[in-house]
Amino acid sequence: VVEHGQPRREVKTTCAYCGVGCSFIAELQGDEVVRMTPDRDGGANEGHSCVKGRFAWGYATHQERMLSPMVRDNITDPWRECSWDEAIDFAATRLRRIQKEHGTGAIGGITSSRCTNEEVYVVQKMVRAAFGNNNVDTCARVCHSPTGYGLSVTLGTSAGTQDFKSVEQADVILVIGANPTDAHPVFASRMKRRLRSGARLIVIDPRRIDLVRSPHVAAAHHLQLRPGTNVAVINALAHVIVTEGLVDEAFIAERCEDESFRRWAEFISDASNSPEAVEAVSGVPAQDLRDAARLYATGGNSAIYYGLGVTEHSQGSSMVMGMANLAMATGNFGREGVGISPLRGQNNVQGSCDMGSFPHEFPGYRHVSDDIVRGAFEQSWGRELLAEPGLRIPNMFSAALDGSFRGLYVQGEDIAQSDPDSHHVLAALRAMDCVIVQDLFVNETAAYAHVFLPGTSFLEKDGTFINAERRINRVRPAMPEKQGLSEWETVCRLSTAMGFPMQYNNAAEIMDEIATLTPTFAGVSFDRLDNGPSLQWPCNDAAPDGTPVMHVGSFVRGKGHFMMTQYVPTEERSNRHFPLLLTTGRILSQYNVGAQTRRTANSSWHDEDLLEIHPADAQMRGVADGDMVSLSSRKGAITVRATITDRVPPGIVYTTFHHPETGANVVTTELSDWATSCPEYKVTAVQVSPSNMP
Ligand code: SF4
Repeated sequence: VVEHGQPRREVKTTCAYCGVGCSFIAELQGDEVVRMTPDRDGGANEGHSCVKGRFAWGYATHQERMLSPMVRDNITDPWRECSWDEAIDFAATRLRRIQKEHGTGAIGGITSSRCTNEEVYVVQKMVRAAFGNNNVDTCARVCHSPTGYGLSVTLGTSAGTQDFKSVEQADVILVIGANPTDAHPVFASRMKRRLRSGARLIVIDPRRIDLVRSPHVAAAHHLQLRPGTNVAVINALAHVIVTEGLVDEAFIAERCEDESFRRWAEFISDASNSPEAVEAVSGVPAQDLRDAARLYATGGNSAIYYGLGVTEHSQGSSMVMGMANLAMATGNFGREGVGISPLRGQNNVQGSCDMGSFPHEFPGYRHVSDDIVRGAFEQSWGRELLAEPGLRIPNMFSAALDGSFRGLYVQGEDIAQSDPDSHHVLAALRAMDCVIVQDLFVNETAAYAHVFLPGTSFLEKDGTFINAERRINRVRPAMPEKQGLSEWETVCRLSTAMGFPMQYNNAAEIMDEIATLTPTFAGVSFDRLDNGPSLQWPCNDAAPDGTPVMHVGSFVRGKGHFMMTQYVPTEERSNRHFPLLLTTGRILSQYNVGAQTRRTANSSWHDEDLLEIHPADAQMRGVADGDMVSLSSRKGAITVRATITDRVPPGIVYTTFHHPETGANVVTTELSDWATSCPEYKVTAVQVSPSNMP
C-alpha cells in the first residue's frame, strides 16, 4: 500500500518495556514508525496494551540518541567521536592492558534485560571465552535473582510455573509485593476480569495498591505488613495451614519429599510462627493472618503472583522459598489456576537469566563447575573455560574499590542510577581504568565511561525476548539500525579484537547455537517462531509444542523440596534519627530509570518523582501537600516533592526512582539478600524534613 507517496507496511514485534511481553504491529510509512497497534493474536496480550507499549516508543528516534561511537582517555576529558573500528580497538587495547597488569580476572561484563536473548548470549560468551573468566552478571541480580535461586532449590527450575491464561482458572489470587495495575497493566486487566467474575483476592503489601482500592474488586484481605517482615507473614500463613490440618496430604505424599516436609512442618508449627507472634513483628492482625491462610488453603485453586516487593529484601530468597512451601503444602501446583508466578520487571528478565549471564551458570542454569556441561561449551566454542564462578555485580564494585577489578563492559543498563547506595557505585566506577557503556543515550553511567558504543532500540533489533510466562517472543526490526551495527555484531567485534573470534551471519544463527547447547531450548528456532505461534520453554523432544504450565505430574527436580525459612529481621531498622521506613516502586506512565519513557510524551504525565507520606507523619513535620522535602538516610540525602496520602500507613513513606534529578538510590542501602546479593531496595530507614527549596 502506498500513502502520501510512501509505501505503508507493518512489522509484528514485541513491546520492550515490561515482562508481560505484549505483541504489537508497528505501522510504518517509509522507514518511520507512525503507530503501534496491539496484536489481537498476541499470546500474552490478545489485542490489549498499556500506555507505555502503545504510546512510549518515540525515544527510538529521539534527538538525544547517540549514533556515533565515542572514546576518551580520562572521564574528565570531553568525548571524541570516532569510527567503530577505532572504538573497538581502543576498548580491546585497554582491556588487554588491564589483564596484563592485573590478571585475567580484572575485567568483566554486565548484561541487560532490555536486550534480546541473542545479544545477551554473545556477551556472556565473550566474557567466558574472550575475557577468560566468569565475571558476567545480569541486571536481574538487582531484581529477580532470589526468584531464580528460591524456585530452583524448591521446585527445580528458575522460572514461573504458569502461563498468564492460568489466572482465569484461579479461585483465590494472592498478590505479594507487586503492583500489577502500574507495573504489569495488561496482565492486571486479565487478573481484574477474573476477580470481577468471582475470584477472591489477598494482597500482602505495605501500601494500599490500586487492586485493593478498586471499586470493582472486593479485596478479601489486605495484609498491610511492615516493610521487611514478608517471611514472618508467609510463615504465619503456613503455620495456620499446618496446625489447623489444612495441608494437602495426598499431594505431599505423591509429589514432595517426605523428610523435608516433616522437618519443615515441625519448624513451622513452632509458636514463634503463630499469627499472634507475627502480629507483633509485622503489624498484621492475627485474625487477618488466620483468615487469609484459611482462604488460600481451602478456597479452591490458589495462585500466587509476586513482584520485587518479595525479592528486593535481605530475605528475598527465603520469601520465594516460603511461597513455594505454601503452594506445595496446599497442592497448588501442576495445573491451570494455581502455581507461583513472578511478575518480571523488564521485558527480558527471564531471558537474560536463561541465557547464562550469571557468574556461576551457563545458559539453561547449569553450573560452571559441571564438567560435562562445561565440556560441551568448550567443544562448541573451541576454548577452555573456567570452572570457578566469577564476580557478582556488588562484588565487582567492591573489587574495583580495592583495585583488583578495573575494566567493565555495561550493556544497556544505567547502574549509576539504578543500583543501590549510589555513592558507593560511583566511587567504584571512578576507580576503573576502562568502563565501556553501550546504550541508546549518554546515560548517568556514561559520565564515568571511557568508551561509548551506541546501542539499538527495540524497533531496530532482530531477536527474541522471553516474558514472565517463559514465552519466547520474536522481536523484528521495523527500522534499519540507526548507528549501522547491531549490538550483537558490536560484541562479536569486541570479542574478536580481544583474541576470541566470534562471527554469525544473523541473529537466527545465535539462536541455533543456543538451542544446540541448551536442552530447554532444543526445539526453538527463528523459523518455528516466524511460521507458528510463540513458544514457552521448555521446548524440546519431551515438550515439542512448549510448556504453558510447569511441574505437571512431577516437579522438575523430581520431588518438591521444603526449605526452612527462619524469619531474620533486616539490619535496617528505624531509629531516633531515621524514624520512618522508605519503600520504592514504579508508576504506570514511567519505566525504571526513565531513560526511555522520559523521552516520550509519557514524560508529561509524571515529570518528577513524588514522596508519598501519611497525613499524620506530614503534619508532625510541618509538611504540606506539594512541599519540597529533604529525604535522608544513613547513606545520603535527596530533595523530593511530598504528596500527602493514606495510600501509605503512618511510619512508611514511598517514592519512585524514575528521574535522575531525584536520585532516589542515593538513600538506599548496601544491604542485600543473603543468598543472591539482590539489594534490599524495599527497606530504608529515613527521616523527612521540610526543605528550603521552593
Ligand atoms: Fe508493554 Fe508491559 Fe504495557 Fe504490555 S503491559 S504494553 S508489555 S509495558
